[in-house]
Amino acid sequence: MTNEPQYDLADLAERAAGRHVVVVGAGASGLVAAREIARLGIRVTVLESAASVGGAVRSGDVGGIRLDLGAESFATRGGHVQALIDELGLAGDVVEPDHSAGGAWVAGLSGGGAAPLPKGGILGIPANPFADDVRRVIGWRGAWRAYLDRLRPNLRIGHADSLGQLVRSRMGARVLDRLVAPVTSGVYSASADDIDPAIAAPGLNTALTRAGSLSGAVLELQEQRRTAPGGAVKGIRGGMARLVEALAADIAERGGEVRTGVSVVSIDEGADAAWRVVTDQVETDEDGAEAPLALDADAVIVATEEATARRLLAPLVGSGLAAALPAPGPAVAIATLVLDLPALDSAPRGTGVLTVPGSHRAKALTHATAKWAWVREAAGKGTHVVRVSFGTVAEDPATDGLSAQEQTELAREEAARLLGIEIPAGAVRGSRLERFQQSQPAATHGQREQAETARAAIRAVPTLGAVGAWLAGTGLAQVVPDAKAETDRVRRAVLFGDQ
Ligand SMILES: Cc1cc2nc3c(=O)[nH]c(=O)nc-3n(C[C@H](O)[C@H](O)[C@H](O)COP(=O)(O)OP(=O)(O)OC[C@H]3O[C@@H](n4cnc5c(N)ncnc54)[C@H](O)[C@@H]3O)c2cc1C
Repeated sequence: MTNEPQYDLADLAERAAGRHVVVVGAGASGLVAAREIARLGIRVTVLESAASVGGAVRSGDVGGIRLDLGAESFATRGGHVQALIDELGLAGDVVEPDHSAGGAWVAGLSGGGAAPLPKGGILGIPANPFADDVRRVIGWRGAWRAYLDRLRPNLRIGHADSLGQLVRSRMGARVLDRLVAPVTSGVYSASADDIDPAIAAPGLNTALTRAGSLSGAVLELQEQRRTAPGGAVKGIRGGMARLVEALAADIAERGGEVRTGVSVVSIDEGADAAWRVVTDQVETDEDGAEAPLALDADAVIVATEEATARRLLAPLVGSGLAAALPAPGPAVAIATLVLDLPALDSAPRGTGVLTVPGSHRAKALTHATAKWAWVREAAGKGTHVVRVSFGTVAEDPATDGLSAQEQTELAREEAARLLGIEIPAGAVRGSRLERFQQSQPAATHGQREQAETARAAIRAVPTLGAVGAWLAGTGLAQVVPDAKAETDRVRRAVLFGDQ
């Protein structure tokens, strides 16, 4: 049974065609939202402040190769991104990372050493501290200390609030500093102390209660994950940016409009329609008078990053949404280097390197030509693509404030240290740096509650919606299904709200 009034189809189609929705922001979430609107024949306009669509999923030319400069893969978990890719006709171009180069490494061990990141484990926590690959990273002393986890009194209450505290108390500082911190810093840009295990490793708390030790819990979870489908990452030949381009093309095909280079400055209550979306563009009327370009809309979906979303929405919704950020998230900078350097053919650090926090100015490196066969083919023999990343919650990117040349220099030096080889300045064929402001990762304390509070306040106004990583959690696997669900709510309000 549904509470929706019954319409004949012609009436419904006419209703849809008479409505207009504005989406603010053409990142992945905004484009998915706009497509969901356009699918029902509702007129949609997407306004994007940048010169191109995609947000964190952006691409560009570096050294003559078109490369992803932000997101470069998607998690297969849930199957939502794959389903979207299928719908957009890109299924044939989905690719798996190349595992032949081995996995990632960890750098910044004592004496400046580096070693392969141990196989298995959950968030870097090993199931067996004496495994050769684990011991190589934490040493015998670290292994014995970690083993105490098995001997210490059972964890009676299997609920830990802080991943850092949990690992430190059960397995010691070496496991925390050398195995777990590089992962939380590299993946979440956050300290392990701020990560809530319940969100970062679902099931860990329950497994702790059952197993009575942390390593036992990890073993149990590892086993569950081994037998569960998904859990991997995949990419798209030619880059993840193809996904956002296909989304934008699909919106246009369905009659929607995506305008770039237009920044939304405010959303006001409208006179002729529910909302008036005011932009930074100026239009001139018939009498030659200038006024800000504004669009009337029956509903607005805000798909920007958190700070802008709060600023735009706070005046329109109740007290649950403060205009100020609860806490600033990490800024991350990715330097993409194209190197003519056959010495990298042997992939000396597998698919990339994570660092022990504090040991390097960069926090991680991806060897893209080792990780993705399509990048290797695009680069050609002897040419390599590495992505050096900087910046965590605790520390702004070391590239901030540097000139473009200094940024390239720093990225080259850090890449050389992390890869353990010399990289002469002359080997750099191309270089490009992109900076991203991220919201607090969903796995940090209190973030989920804050997002829920914000959502509830926004949902109280049926013709307003908000989508994006600050609400859904970072990553396309989170953002895509969330944007679909939220847009469905707004879509219903647009079609049936006046009934
Ligand atoms: C460096 C990096 C690497 C990543 N790698 C991966 C990965 O490999 N796999 C994965 O799944 N996820 C990855 N992620 C995360 C993923 O890319 C993001 O979670 C997701 O793309 C966020 O999409 P979004 O639509 O919420 O926000 P965004 O992509 O930030 O889009 C917001 C858009 O709003 C626009 N905007 C802002 N203000 C205004 C305004 N006033 N008016 C108009 N437009 C405005 C912005 O220009 C931007 O285009 C990565 C993120 C980063 C930063």
